[in-house]
Amino acid sequence: MINYFDNAATTKPDPEVVKAMMPYFTKLYGNPSSNNPCGVKIRQAVEEARCLVSEYLGCVPPEIIFTSGATEANNLAIKGCADLCGNEKFHFILSCIEHKSVLSLKECLECAGHEVDLVNCNPNGVIDLEDLENLIQENTLLISCIYVNNETGIIQPISKIAKICRDNDILFHVDATQAFGKLKIKVREIGIDLLSFSGHKFHGPKGVGGLYKAHDLDLKCQILGGSQESSYRSGTENVPGIIGLGKAIEIANENLGKNYIYLEELSEYFLDKLNKSKIEYILNGDLCCKVPWIFNIALLNSTASHLISNMKNFCFSRSSACSKGNKPSYVLKEMCIDDDLIKKSIRVSFSKFTTKEQINKFVESLKKLIND
Ligand code: PMP
Repeated sequence: MINYFDNAATTKPDPEVVKAMMPYFTKLYGNPSSNNPCGVKIRQAVEEARCLVSEYLGCVPPEIIFTSGATEANNLAIKGCADLCGNEKFHFILSCIEHKSVLSLKECLECAGHEVDLVNCNPNGVIDLEDLENLIQENTLLISCIYVNNETGIIQPISKIAKICRDNDILFHVDATQAFGKLKIKVREIGIDLLSFSGHKFHGPKGVGGLYKAHDLDLKCQILGGSQESSYRSGTENVPGIIGLGKAIEIANENLGKNYIYLEELSEYFLDKLNKSKIEYILNGDLCCKVPWIFNIALLNSTASHLISNMKNFCFSRSSACSKGNKPSYVLKEMCIDDDLIKKSIRVSFSKFTTKEQINKFVESLKKLIND
């Protein structure tokens, strides 16, 4: 039996989610844009899913644009703003620890004549707010910051950045992929203009996600065609995916507090087990700044590749599943962690389906491999 500790890469779909999706593969296959009884019924279901997302985020349903996932949502948010600028050139600030789907846009923005700065993070993995304020220019249009880093689990000071944005009349985009469905996020209360999320990170399906876009903000559509999603994202909607995402956020929203407490309990349990096992390790990033479901740890007497290739019954990762190849993690590098420790670092991530028994097996197996 595989013991799954790679929930930051993707999560197991909730059986209730799969159940909710099934009819949309079999009986309910109409096109939501068709003005006939089949289409109308599907449109209603898609709109109900949109309502469930907006309830969680504390916004209104028309502010939700469904996409193929967070990569597309990040592209739509940032390029969508830049492409509205006409000939005018603006300044963008991205954090240096963004997911590649945000960081890769730097080049694209620069090619279009805009200026881009990356804000540094401190050795604890939290972005440097002083550096951020110093980078702001007269023509700064947008700041983009990840909510919870996918490699370290470090929570970024989103409310403080929102205030900085508000005070300076700057748009604020948040890649909330690792926080969505796990932390309470109220976009209006915080002051977020754009927020990306992805279904498969909170027990929903893959290939579906979305973007919250404040109603008074415009974006240039990045996928042209039939003008679906209020003209912000063309293409026939991924109906089963959207229904699954809606169900996943409904379940997550109902169990937010309970799940958080459980994950905190697992986190304490894991650290306690590690400490008692006498395995020598360093936690990358401050415990006080992180979510309880993602750990990035350097095992001092081993290497990540040795552990991954010798612990075949366990799924965990070196850094992010999205960065191909064996390059050292740029996130850990930004935290000034040296290459030797980066090679020893693994990411272990939990979900509501993780059990203490699985953690026992994992730590036992680590101990055997490292201490024997
Ligand atoms: N942003 C973050 C923080 C992520 O963790 C991921 C997924 N690894 C993405 C964006 C991309 O999400 P998707 O798989 O939906 O394209």
